[in-house]
Amino acid sequence: GSISMETESTHISSVIPGWFSEISPMWPGEAHSLKVEKILFEGKSDFQNVLVFQSSTYGKVLVLDGVIQLTERDECAYQEMITHLPLCSIPNPKKVLVIGGGDGGVLREVARHSSVEQIDICEIDKMVVDVSKQFFPEVAVGYEDPRVKLHIGDGVAFLKAVPAGTYDAIIVDSSDPIALCLFHSGPAQELFEKPFFETVSKALRPGGVVSTQAESIWLHMHIIEDIVANCRQIFKGSVNYAWTTVPTYPRHILFLFSYYYFLWCALSGVIGFMLCSTEGPSVDFKHPVNPIDADKNPSKSRGPLKFYNSEIHTAAFCLPTFAKKVIDSK
Ligand code: SAM
Repeated sequence: GSISMETESTHISSVIPGWFSEISPMWPGEAHSLKVEKILFEGKSDFQNVLVFQSSTYGKVLVLDGVIQLTERDECAYQEMITHLPLCSIPNPKKVLVIGGGDGGVLREVARHSSVEQIDICEIDKMVVDVSKQFFPEVAVGYEDPRVKLHIGDGVAFLKAVPAGTYDAIIVDSSDPIALCLFHSGPAQELFEKPFFETVSKALRPGGVVSTQAESIWLHMHIIEDIVANCRQIFKGSVNYAWTTVPTYPRHILFLFSYYYFLWCALSGVIGFMLCSTEGPSVDFKHPVNPIDADKNPSKSRGPLKFYNSEIHTAAFCLPTFAKKVIDSK
């Protein structure tokens, strides 16, 4: 994630007084900083750079290839929405697959649903799982549920091997398609492409649902347009875009320079999801049929829901006019 000293020093002067666009192709012209109190972990896996730091205002922060994946303070807004938007929209979900999501937060949320019997997760990078268990116990608590089965491997290959019609719900909790490293795409690139959505659709039962991380309406309308167009071709049940607020999303660390310990990110404070269903029993995502009651599934280790409720579920599908125009036209 961090860039070399020579590159850093050439950028420091341009970054501090003003904007810093050239190393941020996904959101040029924007910068924001998070103060780093302490670096807790720095490693390089076969797939990406992994960093954990203590921030001064957002608790511990997990960073992959220069992109913030979660902070202790606002992870609930993302994990609860990407999980309960699909699972509360169908009656009695039983088999659920999570692609990515190695931190375990989505597992923690899926486990709140007592109808669920099987929770498979396919995460490409074991280091993310290990680091989450070490530094984010309240997120990694998801792994403690006995229904969870962890597969380490590429989600694309995993899905190809899944028999047709296996899952009631698939949650794609991936990283962004383009990582900070400008010279190669991140491992999640394929998870945003059409062939992947086709495989997802085959792995779902009729009337099954998928929820995928789908970027920010403020920063990535061009990416969202393509995703929506692809989904409309593939998912013959329903195709919807929903969004939530997450203060530190999307989050791109432009650089971390060792002496000052500052991180620079483009933030829009919102992140979206695609919610689609396959042909079969119809799914009306805007009106949850399987409400989850914050107090219904208590678990000491898991804690109560902090963000999701049925009102915010329905509200998540209301879009600002500029985004609605584009998405409805696809
Ligand atoms: N909630 C955060 C967010 O919005 O970005 C966290 C996402 S989670 C940490 C993303 C995970 O997807 C990462 O751990 C990454 O290793 C994993 N991932 C990326 N590409 C993958 C692939 N092709 N198959 C399986 N997992 C993948």
